[in-house]
Amino acid sequence: MVVVVPSKKSRILHRQPNAELPMAFMGDGPYIIDDNGKRYIDASGGAAVSCLGHSNTRVRQAIKDQVDNIAFAHTSFFTSKPAEDLADFLVEHSPQGLDYAYLVSGGSEAVESALKLARQYFIELGQDSRKYFIARRQSYHGNTLGALAVGGNLWRKQQFAPILVDTEHVSPCYAYRDQKSDESELDYGLRIANELEQRIESLGAKNVIAFVAEPIVGATSGVLTPVPGYFKRIREICDQHGILLILDEVMCGMGRTGSLFACEQEQVSADILCVAKGLGAGYQAIGAMLLSDKIYNTITDGSGFFQHGHTYQAHATACAAALAVQQEIQDNNLIDNVQNMGLKLQSALLSQFGNHPNIGDIRGRGLFWGIELVADRVTKKPLDPKLKVHSAIKTAAMNEGLICYPGGGTIDGKQGNHILLAPPFIINEKHVTEIVDKLARAIDTALVNCGL
Ligand code: PLP
Repeated sequence: MVVVVPSKKSRILHRQPNAELPMAFMGDGPYIIDDNGKRYIDASGGAAVSCLGHSNTRVRQAIKDQVDNIAFAHTSFFTSKPAEDLADFLVEHSPQGLDYAYLVSGGSEAVESALKLARQYFIELGQDSRKYFIARRQSYHGNTLGALAVGGNLWRKQQFAPILVDTEHVSPCYAYRDQKSDESELDYGLRIANELEQRIESLGAKNVIAFVAEPIVGATSGVLTPVPGYFKRIREICDQHGILLILDEVMCGMGRTGSLFACEQEQVSADILCVAKGLGAGYQAIGAMLLSDKIYNTITDGSGFFQHGHTYQAHATACAAALAVQQEIQDNNLIDNVQNMGLKLQSALLSQFGNHPNIGDIRGRGLFWGIELVADRVTKKPLDPKLKVHSAIKTAAMNEGLICYPGGGTIDGKQGNHILLAPPFIINEKHVTEIVDKLARAIDTALVNCGL
């Protein structure tokens, strides 16, 4: 099974052009095997993508069958059974009020579509003055210009500043850093949510289109779970001021947190909801935007169609793959496994790292966990960004045969360090132990290599 690949300079503009990446050769459940036969346990599903692992028979067969029938038919001329069935599945399982789906090729496309749809919705209503989006610091919504504009990643935005849509940012719900010692969780959540109301009032509600938020923040900050009541208050504020709520579940959605949609656990729904990653589990490139019938009807009764479109939207093969992924999750009760293995992972992380001097916080839900690294766990002082501890952890983890997703998020505009774990929904207790053991060795090696 070892394949010899002649070494040559890559012609791909990689994320890290000078990094020597191993060649992924094949998948085996939660493992990726490289061309030298080395096995890596995929504890982050790449970036919270591969929720079924890497070699699922049903999904592979569904893709083959669809390609044998027809791989693609342009949506100006045809619809397809997998696209119609996938839209039905999403709408039937989605939180209340989301009655239509718009199928795209990934997370950024889903968010970009949501921003445009929200804008068009108000234009159809004759409310052209609305031009502001409000989002949160320490959030990520994608890399296309609109999605980047609403994201809170300051250092990336600064590079593209003059060409981005103006977005106002408020605080994320980040209890570990921002909850005051004399404040209850509930009071903290209300205080932070009320920042949105203050911002709407200062901009003038008639100028605001929507509030955009991840129910559970992923990549930028290592899994920020909201405190109870925060999102209920957010929903209330949006309704009171007549602005839309766009929830971005590209990373946290499709079962990752122990319910199909993360917002269900907050008991709120959205006007527009975006999903991607776990929708197709990486077997094909796919994302979706779900929308309310209020928006659908306003657009179709108005100019008649959504002024948007991509060549590969509702791609038949991608939809067939996503449908098979979702059927596999349902038929095997994998969301129950997310809940059960999530509890095992939580307790293994707490017992391994609960007293670690450089680990300040361990937080998450289901199989979506974040570990925040600090210089001092008592003062919560962030690690010096110049040390690039997150990069050292990634290297050490890959050497151990572990894929995790370390990041240098932003804490008050400065970089912080965290590790994100999002293993496949198919893992068992042995995999949990392997992940935590390898992670412990990787963190220790990385800290030593960084002189800590
Ligand atoms: N939104 C969130 C919450 C994400 O985590 C991501 C990707 O990490 C995106 C949007 C963008 O998705 P994609 O990389 O598929 O464009």
